Amino acid sequence: MTASQAKTIKKIALLTSGGDAPGMNAAIRSTTLYALHHGIEVIGFRHGYNGLINNEFIRLDEPSVREIVGRGGTILKSARCEEFKTCEGMKQAAKNLSAQNIDALIVIGGDGSFAGLVKFKQFYSGQTIGIPGTIDNDIDGTDHTIGFATAVDTAVNAIDKIRDTADAFERIFVVEVMGRKSGFLALNVGVACAAEHIITFENFSNPGIELQHIATKVERIKKHRGKCSHLIVSAENLYPGGANKLASDLADYAAIECIPCILGYIQRGGDPVAKDRILATHMGAHAIQELLAGNSDIMIGIEGQFCKPIALSESVEHHKGVNQNLLDIQESLQDLR
Ligand code: ADP
Repeated sequence: MTASQAKTIKKIALLTSGGDAPGMNAAIRSTTLYALHHGIEVIGFRHGYNGLINNEFIRLDEPSVREIVGRGGTILKSARCEEFKTCEGMKQAAKNLSAQNIDALIVIGGDGSFAGLVKFKQFYSGQTIGIPGTIDNDIDGTDHTIGFATAVDTAVNAIDKIRDTADAFERIFVVEVMGRKSGFLALNVGVACAAEHIITFENFSNPGIELQHIATKVERIKKHRGKCSHLIVSAENLYPGGANKLASDLADYAAIECIPCILGYIQRGGDPVAKDRILATHMGAHAIQELLAGNSDIMIGIEGQFCKPIALSESVEHHKGVNQNLLDIQESLQDLR
């Protein structure tokens, strides 16, 4: 992290990159308004890092960020950009920023976007700051990421409805939620929905053990409660072949009839809940405060009620795991004796 030194900043660039998350717009709004409040001009690059390379940008002013605090998606659009992974792509991006005399670049995105930003420092001499926006909550150095609370609520609302029909027919469902490399969504959604079983990155070992575990649990719970609904919440990309294959394997392995349901992209969309709007507003303004203090190469994290700077390189290198104790508690709640 660069040592603090009050700085005069005239112009900054802002973009959203990678998987979109509800609340990104609230972060764009707050970053823009707080910068304007300090007399700083704000340029928004569109379509993630593609915008930097292709020089696709808009000037962000008060009217352009009006009434977006509660809107899902991102007005700057998001995208992935293979070209940014090359030296040529990064050089072009740096050239475009320098041509406009941009003092600092703020990227709202996930750990992939931050990995790109860390490398970009080899080519760009301005200040860089990351604001964590991802529904996965998998970024080390921050308690929460923008979009996570909304995605949990969206999944819980959907699964509550699935529970109703599962209860009516005393059926077993396996519901697949997002979360490629970490189990925050699966664990939190599973706890909130009182799922009978949760499969996360942190507790999955192999398909055989998982089938055995589920079959034993289904039998044990049936013994206690009689025939009843049973919900399995699973993170995507863990069980090979996903929810559909897990359901068919359970039928083959233990004659368990199970209905697969993949929640998919609804988890990314929708209006951000109040918690995400507040988090995004706080982080966006804090990013400008850090820039003005002369800091660079950092991510804005939140710990308790305070934002704090975290070295970007550290947030990229370390894996943030779920609270194992909460996973154990959830397991115990389904294990009555
Ligand atoms: P997220 O930010 O949501 O984790 P991705 O992992 O898809 O999303 O990353 C978004 C973009 O960040 C990529 O399309 C690419 O432009 C950039 N990026 C990711 N990893 C790197 C890397 N190692 N080097 C350079 N750019 C990267």
